[in-house]
Amino acid sequence: MTVRTRFAPSPTGALHLGSVRTALFCWLYARHNKGQFVLRIEDTDGERSTPENVDAILDGMAWLGLDPDEGPFYQTDRFDRYQEVIDQWLSEGKAYHCYCTKDELDNLRAGQMARGEKTGYDGRCRDRKEPREGVDPVVRFKNPLDGEVVIDDQVRGTVVFQNAELDDLIIARSDGTPTYNFSVIIDDVDMGITSVIRGDDHLNNTPKQMNMLEALGAEMPVYAHLPMILGSDGAKLSKRHGAVDIREYREQGYLPEAMLNYLVRLGWSHGDQELFSLDEMIELFDIADVNQSASAFNAEKLLWLNQQYIIAAPERRIGGALIPYLKKAGLNPEDGPDPSDLAGGFRERAETLVQMVESSRYCYEDFDEIDAKAAKKNLRPVVLEPMKATKDKLAELADWTKEGISQCIEDVAQSFEINMGKLGQPIRVAVTGGAVSPPIDITVWLVGRERTLRRMDIAIERILERAAAGGN
Ligand code: GLU
Repeated sequence: MTVRTRFAPSPTGALHLGSVRTALFCWLYARHNKGQFVLRIEDTDGERSTPENVDAILDGMAWLGLDPDEGPFYQTDRFDRYQEVIDQWLSEGKAYHCYCTKDELDNLRAGQMARGEKTGYDGRCRDRKEPREGVDPVVRFKNPLDGEVVIDDQVRGTVVFQNAELDDLIIARSDGTPTYNFSVIIDDVDMGITSVIRGDDHLNNTPKQMNMLEALGAEMPVYAHLPMILGSDGAKLSKRHGAVDIREYREQGYLPEAMLNYLVRLGWSHGDQELFSLDEMIELFDIADVNQSASAFNAEKLLWLNQQYIIAAPERRIGGALIPYLKKAGLNPEDGPDPSDLAGGFRERAETLVQMVESSRYCYEDFDEIDAKAAKKNLRPVVLEPMKATKDKLAELADWTKEGISQCIEDVAQSFEINMGKLGQPIRVAVTGGAVSPPIDITVWLVGRERTLRRMDIAIERILERAAAGGN
């Protein structure tokens, strides 16, 4: 039997980190078992589902590379199919019209509470033969009255629910629209889902869904309910703990592969290994290794992991990933070094792609002012001649290579009998406008000949002015 999993988000909000973790586990489980992964958009809530949220989900999935083998399917395209089963169940006596008014249900509930009983629908319309004038009925499923439902959960183990604890759930509202628990099982059956992997906030829905699957005569899928993700304070992960919308991580310059690596470790482990390539995840992922207990989100660890990925990625990968961030920062990637070349200079000092763009800004655009403190300390009359000599040598350099640049600076330092650092720092301040950058030969190489010579001239001018004013 081919394994088929599904990720079934409701587009009532953005794609949340917790949902991405669910999607990843569904995707990995399918990939590991050479099965299929289905994407289903559960958009039956016409008021809260929006096209923007659907786009955010599809975008997020595409960015992360969690591509479905089938879908996206939309539940709103399947109303006829749901209606067909509702009609069938009504005629078979597996479901019934319930004409209870809101007042009646409120009274029922109040009475149950006053008597200290469990609240729930008491089935009073089960055997009703006559419709009630002026009331649009809902449709309820006849849940079995006794017996139990046993879930053999791949994460939680055996979980037992008593049917006496469940009531006859509504499967169609009075306007005819199907409810969540009902549409899910119809879809799971029609889409041939063999494994339902989802958050454990759905565990209480599972016995209801299993009873309906039974009524359909369908084969039961295997269930796995994933533990929650908590914030650093032990509460359910939410906006209070930082960004939870996957798009924000993208905007902040996280690599999708780092996100996936971070999320796979939330609730799953393989020994004490922290870094997993996608292929390794697919090879090693086993739902049986998912922890039963909740895991805590740790933003610092995610940041650390992101830098590990930035350091390890091929330069071309980083270069390609940087382009949208450069553009977003108002820089033109064509007007400066090939973004792939930034990797070598900047990756050790950037935890995110956004940081990398910010610290390499001077490679793509001129800065307004040299940092005053750095200028005061480094652009002094003593380096006037070595700076001029460096500029001349760089102007004549046949090939603009790191090695050639390094040689120029070394030659000048030697001829003036100063050490490389003494010369490197004023050059750095001149070409970057600040005191911090990658090694000087790499910095100059990245800034490029034309910008370097122009900026050296400006710095030399400044030193001359300082000397003329009697400064040292
Ligand atoms: N649509 C549900 C949700 O977003 C998930 C349904 C399911 O996985 O069964 O929570």
